[in-house]
Amino acid sequence: MTLKIGVVGTGAIGREHIDRVTNKLAGAKIVALTDVFLDACKQVNEQFDLNATIYPTDTELIASDVDAIFVTSFGGAHAETVLQAVNAGKFVFCEKPLATTAEDCKRIIEAEMKHGSRLVQVGFMRRYDAGYKQLKRAMENHLIGTPLMLKCAHRNPTVAENYTTDMAVTDTLIHEIDCLHWLLEDDYKNVQAYFPRQTSHARVYLQDPQIFMLETKKGVVISVEVFVNCVYGYDIQCEIIGEEGIIKLPEVPSITVRKEEQLSQAILNDWKERFVAAYDVEIQDFIDCVRKSKKLTGPSSWDGYIASVTADACVKAQTSGQKEPIILQDKPAFYA
Ligand code: NAP
Repeated sequence: MTLKIGVVGTGAIGREHIDRVTNKLAGAKIVALTDVFLDACKQVNEQFDLNATIYPTDTELIASDVDAIFVTSFGGAHAETVLQAVNAGKFVFCEKPLATTAEDCKRIIEAEMKHGSRLVQVGFMRRYDAGYKQLKRAMENHLIGTPLMLKCAHRNPTVAENYTTDMAVTDTLIHEIDCLHWLLEDDYKNVQAYFPRQTSHARVYLQDPQIFMLETKKGVVISVEVFVNCVYGYDIQCEIIGEEGIIKLPEVPSITVRKEEQLSQAILNDWKERFVAAYDVEIQDFIDCVRKSKKLTGPSSWDGYIASVTADACVKAQTSGQKEPIILQDKPAFYA
């Protein structure tokens, strides 16, 4: 059976997912669209030759005969759409964040548990990146023994004018927040934020770079540098230091050039390019899981909740300058 997908939010990432489902991936078709800006749906219909039905609201789209819903609207709108979809028993792929508050994440978790099986996957695509998957396998095989410390960096060449200091957490660090607890199979305990000397390349109101020191329940200390005006390129680094050795996220493959007395390798400039393969694998996995087993295996509503609680503590740490606790509820057996 071909999975019938409805898309709520036809902005940048919505269009990318529509493109990959329509032109790259197998087993699904975009049959319904909605956006607060309905003209955007008409454009998308034409651009990708979809012939999808355009619904005036997400409520009407969810009530139609779609099998699954992509929630790719702006973050503040996610929770209500996801809740409606879960209450209607529909599968949901929700771009991060699952919701902008921990309370809303809990409402989604309760609705999903009431339904009785997982319906929601959150769009943390790094778990589908080939390099991070290698790190995960190495951790599962205890290649470096007990992990002790992590050194990570998330660097963008530049960011849009509307990027604010807290977005370093909610838009940027959020990917590390999800990925690192997944790699370590450990929960966060507290976080402290540090503001080094500000780069002159950032707008005056934006604190850049920032460093977050996270401590896990098992005592692993993680430093994540977020530097979004680093100028030189888009660069994601992750190094795990264990008792028996060190593992590091592989660099993006690129030819080495010997020229003019230099030995060099290009660095990517665009985050979309860095994770394009991961997005493809992520969405194909969602489609396959729903079609073949109706059992989702990707990041869950619980992972969305962890990200939300941790991000709140990180934002608080930015202003308090103190070590802020990260307090999670006990994980329900449902998400084991
Ligand atoms: P965007 O270009 O602004 O797209 C959001 C779209 O959703 C816009 O067309 C917006 O319409 C529409 N929308 C807003 N509220 C809606 C509602 N209630 N119902 C239906 N449509 C609604 O933003 P984007 O960059 O695509 O980001 C969308 C989401 O994806 C964000 O949560 C973002 O964090 C996430 N994202 C994730 C990644 C990743 O790496 N996983 C990357 C990029 C984005 P208007 O323009 O009229 O408001």
